[in-house]
Amino acid sequence: MHKKKTKRPWAVFIAIILAMITGTVLGDKQTIFGVSFYSIFDTLGNVFLNALTLVVVPLVSSSIISGVAKIGSEGAFGRLGLKTFAFYLGTSLMAILIGLFFVNLIAPGASHIAPQVTAGEEIALDAFKTKIAIHEGAAFVGVLMQIVPSNIVMAFSQNQMLGIIFFSLLFGYAISKIESHNGSILLGFWQGVFQAMITITHIVMKFLPYGVFCLVAKVFMTTGLSSLKPLSLFTATVILSLGTFMFVGLPLLLRFVGRVKANRHLKAMAPALVTAFSTSSSSATLPITIDCVEKRAGVSNRICSLVVPLGTSINMSGSALYECVAAMFVAQAYGIEISFVTQFLVVLMALVTSIGVAGIPSASLVAILVILKAMGLPPEGIGMFIAVDRLLDMCRTTVNVYSDSCCAVLVARTEGEKNVLAMDPVE
Ligand code: ASP
Repeated sequence: MHKKKTKRPWAVFIAIILAMITGTVLGDKQTIFGVSFYSIFDTLGNVFLNALTLVVVPLVSSSIISGVAKIGSEGAFGRLGLKTFAFYLGTSLMAILIGLFFVNLIAPGASHIAPQVTAGEEIALDAFKTKIAIHEGAAFVGVLMQIVPSNIVMAFSQNQMLGIIFFSLLFGYAISKIESHNGSILLGFWQGVFQAMITITHIVMKFLPYGVFCLVAKVFMTTGLSSLKPLSLFTATVILSLGTFMFVGLPLLLRFVGRVKANRHLKAMAPALVTAFSTSSSSATLPITIDCVEKRAGVSNRICSLVVPLGTSINMSGSALYECVAAMFVAQAYGIEISFVTQFLVVLMALVTSIGVAGIPSASLVAILVILKAMGLPPEGIGMFIAVDRLLDMCRTTVNVYSDSCCAVLVARTEGEKNVLAMDPVE
C-alpha cells in the first residue's frame, strides 16, 4: 500500500554508506572545477542543518505551549514533571554504569601511554582550555540564569532552549487558567503553529538522504576510518557500552516498564536516529524526533511536547556514558589509582555535567575537561581521543536522541496511553 514511501529509510541508510565510501575515497583535497568537494559538501550539509534548525524554536515553543495548555487544565503537571525527571535520571545513570562496567572490564587506557600532545592538537586544546575557564565558574550559575531569562525575545533570538522551554511552560499553563474563550483562541493559534512547523519538518525530511550524504561525506573526508586504529580499544569500549545501553538496557525498560515492543520503537525512531547520527546534533534533530515520537510511535502531544524538548536540552544519556568512559580512559593511561570513591565521583560528575551539555557537535569535550580537572588530571588528556571524537559523537548523539524518545514512551505508557506503539509505524 505504502510501497513508495517505505523505501525512504533505506535511501538514508544507503546515503550513509555511500557517503562513508565517497568521503574516504575523495579525501579533503580533491576538487572539481577548482572548487573542493569538501567545501561543496560542507555548504550543502550546512544548508540542510540550517533548514532543520530553522524550525526548532517555533516548533518547541508551540509544541510545549499547546501541550501544557492541555495538561494544565487536567492538573497533572507536577506528576508528569516528576516522572519525566525520574526517567531522565534513571536512564542516564544506567548508561553511565554500563560505561563504567565496560571501561573497567576492558581497561582501554591501561595499554596506552599518556600523551605527548602534537602541535595541531595543542591549538585545539587551547581553545577548549579557554572554554573550560569560562565554563567552570559560570556553568551552574549560567544554566540557572538561562532557565529564567529576563528578556524572552532575546532567549528566542539566541536559541536559549532552557529559557524558551521555561517560558513556554509558563505560557501554556497560563492559557489553561485564563477565560475559556480567550484561552481556546490562543490554544488554537499555537496548535496551528505547531502543525505548520511539523509540515515544514516533513518538507525538510524529503531532503534527508541528500543532507545526510553531504554531512557524513564531509566527516569522512577529514576523519577516515583509519583514525580509529590506534584507538581501537577505546572506540570499541565506547561503542560496546553505547550499544549495550541502546539495544539491551533501554529495550528492557521499554518491555518491562512500558510494556511495549522495543523493536517497534526502534523502527518508529529510525528517521530521527539516522539524522542524529549524521548531524551529531540532538538539537538540530529535534523537529524529526518530535515528529517520530508523535506520529510514528503514537505518543500524545501533551506528553511528547514536554518530555522530548526538555530531554534534548538536559537528558544526554549517551554523552554521560561517553564522559565517564573517556575520563576513566585518561585516568587509566596516566596510571592513577582509580579508587571506588574516585569512580563514584566520576559517575556523579558525568551525571551532573551531562545536563549542561548542549545538543551540538563535540559539546561533551568541555564536560570531560571539567571531570578531568576534578580528578586532578591534566586537560591535555583530552588529546588522547580527540581524533576519534567526531565519529563517536555521531554514535552518542544517536543514543541521546533514542534515550529521550524512550523516556517519552515510558512516561506516556505509565500515564496509561494505549496508542503508543500499538501498531507498526506508518511509513
Ligand atoms: N553531540 C551531542 C548531542 O548533540 C552532544 C555531545 O555529546 O557532544 O547530543
